Amino acid sequence: MIDTHAHLHFPQYDKDRDKIIEECNQKLDAVVTVGCNFEDSKKALALADSNYKIYGTAGIHPHDAVNYDLNIKESLKNLLQHEKTVAVGEAGLDFYRNLSPKEKQEEIFRLQIELAREFEKPIVIHTREASTEMSEFIKTEMEGVKGIIHCFNGDKELLETALKHGFFISYAGPVTYPKNEFLRETLKNVPSSRLLVETDAPYLSPQKFRGKRNHPVYVAYTIKTIAEYLGLNFSDVDRITTVNAKRIFNLPMTKEEKSPKLVYKVRNTLYINLTTKCPCHCTFCFRGKEDYVLGYNLNLDREPIAEEYMYRIKNPGIYDELVFCGYGEPFERFDALCKIAEWIKKMGAKKVRVNTNGLGYLITNDKKILDKLKGLVDSFNISINASTPEEYYKIVRPSFGKGSFESVLKFIQDAKKAGFEVVISAVDIEDFDKNAFIQFAKKLGVNWKIRNWKVI
Ligand code: SF4
Repeated sequence: MIDTHAHLHFPQYDKDRDKIIEECNQKLDAVVTVGCNFEDSKKALALADSNYKIYGTAGIHPHDAVNYDLNIKESLKNLLQHEKTVAVGEAGLDFYRNLSPKEKQEEIFRLQIELAREFEKPIVIHTREASTEMSEFIKTEMEGVKGIIHCFNGDKELLETALKHGFFISYAGPVTYPKNEFLRETLKNVPSSRLLVETDAPYLSPQKFRGKRNHPVYVAYTIKTIAEYLGLNFSDVDRITTVNAKRIFNLPMTKEEKSPKLVYKVRNTLYINLTTKCPCHCTFCFRGKEDYVLGYNLNLDREPIAEEYMYRIKNPGIYDELVFCGYGEPFERFDALCKIAEWIKKMGAKKVRVNTNGLGYLITNDKKILDKLKGLVDSFNISINASTPEEYYKIVRPSFGKGSFESVLKFIQDAKKAGFEVVISAVDIEDFDKNAFIQFAKKLGVNWKIRNWKVI
């Protein structure tokens, strides 16, 4: 677990800081203690120097912007050269408390954007009652700058803009408050590869400790709420957010976290990642853009042999389901798929599924693929993503060109006839006609699943 935003160097911890840090050392992988002005950033970095699990940031909070002018840039540069400085900030805009004039806040924020660009470090963004202005900044002045929206407050316009620009979204204690359903709802729009957690300690304690001083280890309550809301295990959200924090802050990663995964577990399902090849170019696909999905690096740098998968799967019987699904199309490696599926069934797998784009006939040029998979695979999830050929070619963009849609349809019908369980799926991108897709599935006599487009 990593608390990506706390203020451990604040006076609220003066009396028992050692004890708090000891508890952090026991329970957390790291804490980022965030500076709010020049002097405060120096304190943050001094604390970072004192403990190997603490990292610091250097920046000027919008509340403090009034005390600075452009001359602060050179001094901040010195702090940004410190080896444990992992980000610029806390920087941003706060038009709620307005403790600094608007123009001053913008000037000091702009200065910090330049520093983030120059030092190639992420910028930790505070934004309150300023979503429109912040979205505008992101769109027009932050190209090429990495960012984190700290303590995200649920504003949808800001979320969309931030995600489009590759920013990370950090949730704090308020996501645990019973009334904040609107905030929890936004979790469904944040890709797993961009999700972070924080405490903002000593402030914003989670529900269980509301009104009391916050503690970085309470980040576990935020993780727990997110896991429950997204239907994931605690360990899944812990892994996802820990790896993401290490990626954005450039913290040391373990070999396990860095290396591409052949198999990966989410809840009690084991996924088998055969290849990165795929003949489609879906408009929403993250393949080639993000290596990490659900806290795992899925970007294979080679195509391992079937036995390497068997070695890693070990005991297929312990999983609820085994699913051929990774960053590519399983039918691209049909022989390996059959060999592994045969072995996992023999070894007691309860259920075996293949997540496919449905182009197996065209990929293998073999009309007997379904016969070969009988008894080895129980179900197919076929991501057709459209209910008409026009929509299909616009969204999926298969390299086989014309005839692809018809080939997928034939695969769906044949699989159903052959007794496989078939689900067709689509991603709910902008302008996607959900009702037409449901009618289409009903007509085909198969179940359907529509996924939120940003959740992967
Ligand atoms: S079929 Fe899947 S892997 Fe292939 S491009 Fe589409 S989303 Fe990506």
